Amino acid sequence: MEYKNLGKSGLKVSRLSLGSWLTFGKQIGNNIAADLMDLAYDKGVNFFDNAEIYSKGESERVMGEILSKRDWRRDSYIVSSKAFFGDGGELPNQRGLSRKHLVEACEAALKRLKLDYLDLYYCHRPDKETPISETVWTMHNLIQQGKILYWGTSEWSAQEIMEAHMVAQQYNLIGPTMEQPQYNMFHRDKVEVEYSQIYKTVGLGTTIWSPLASGILSGKYNDGMAEKTRLSMEGLEWLKDKNLVEENLEKVRKLTKLAQEIGTSMPKMAIAWCLKNENVSTAILGASKVDQLSETLTAMDDVQLLTQEVMEKISVILDNEPSRPAF
Ligand code: NDP
Repeated sequence: MEYKNLGKSGLKVSRLSLGSWLTFGKQIGNNIAADLMDLAYDKGVNFFDNAEIYSKGESERVMGEILSKRDWRRDSYIVSSKAFFGDGGELPNQRGLSRKHLVEACEAALKRLKLDYLDLYYCHRPDKETPISETVWTMHNLIQQGKILYWGTSEWSAQEIMEAHMVAQQYNLIGPTMEQPQYNMFHRDKVEVEYSQIYKTVGLGTTIWSPLASGILSGKYNDGMAEKTRLSMEGLEWLKDKNLVEENLEKVRKLTKLAQEIGTSMPKMAIAWCLKNENVSTAILGASKVDQLSETLTAMDDVQLLTQEVMEKISVILDNEPSRPAF
């Protein structure tokens, strides 16, 4: 496993990490969740990603239970949570990025995860109804109290991230270290263009999500609907309708052929493609089966297969190169 500093921070994060969205406490049994974490940890993964909203808190409970039964040293792994969507409550202060919700969500996550502190704490989305200064002050204070070590954002615009940094600079507070954006072959603009300046200026780290676009980039939907998969799950029709479209499938069929030609599999090539981008600190993997994770955890080996020539072929197939500003 390779490790990389999370942005300009001193924290080393494994380039592949493991997430729990839609799997822990929902799609998979707790024994499989435990097997996935064991395999990941054995292979050098040091970051496990979670959020208050994942299975309405159940994902954190499952992860906490597993962690409490391992004899892994606390300094050998990183755990995150994210606040914004709440854990199921519908009252006005049970979501968002107010001081009240951030503090209460942090306490609730720590309890469910059975931890004394969170390594990473994210603002899961921007909150247009809370001043960014209130959020920055709260995150800074949570760090001062030892409840969290680093804080970051998820799906914030570059402008919002910079506003948080300006507040932090103004009052000498700790600003956001990392952003958690979607990044995969179909979803490129934010990571490749929008944030391009702030990697350099504030030293933004990225923990990217959905490297397989919810499984489509594994190639398993190439010949039609695959049963017992995320996109066949009840309640996730919105995700299926958004992603499982013929235009994407046509591209994945061509990419699958290319993966075979260069001697690898489609899921590994898709993840290696994300890792090839140096601004990706870590790619968060999702898995519903141990076999899937065994495969994707070796994706780092394939980065060297992605020569300039192969990258150009991928680019032609994808036909979605983001337009970059001329300066
Ligand atoms: P992916 O896009 O990689 O999708 C993972 C899913 O793809 C698996 O659950 C599995 O689904 C399928 N899969 C994985 N490996 C293989 C394989 N080798 N062969 C075939 N199918 C495979 O990642 P996720 O969407 O799960 O995102 C990863 C993590 O990112 C999440 O767990 C979460 O921690 C984080 N995240 C953060 C978000 C945010 O807003 N900040 C939003 C979403 C995710 P199946 O077997 O069911 O088909």
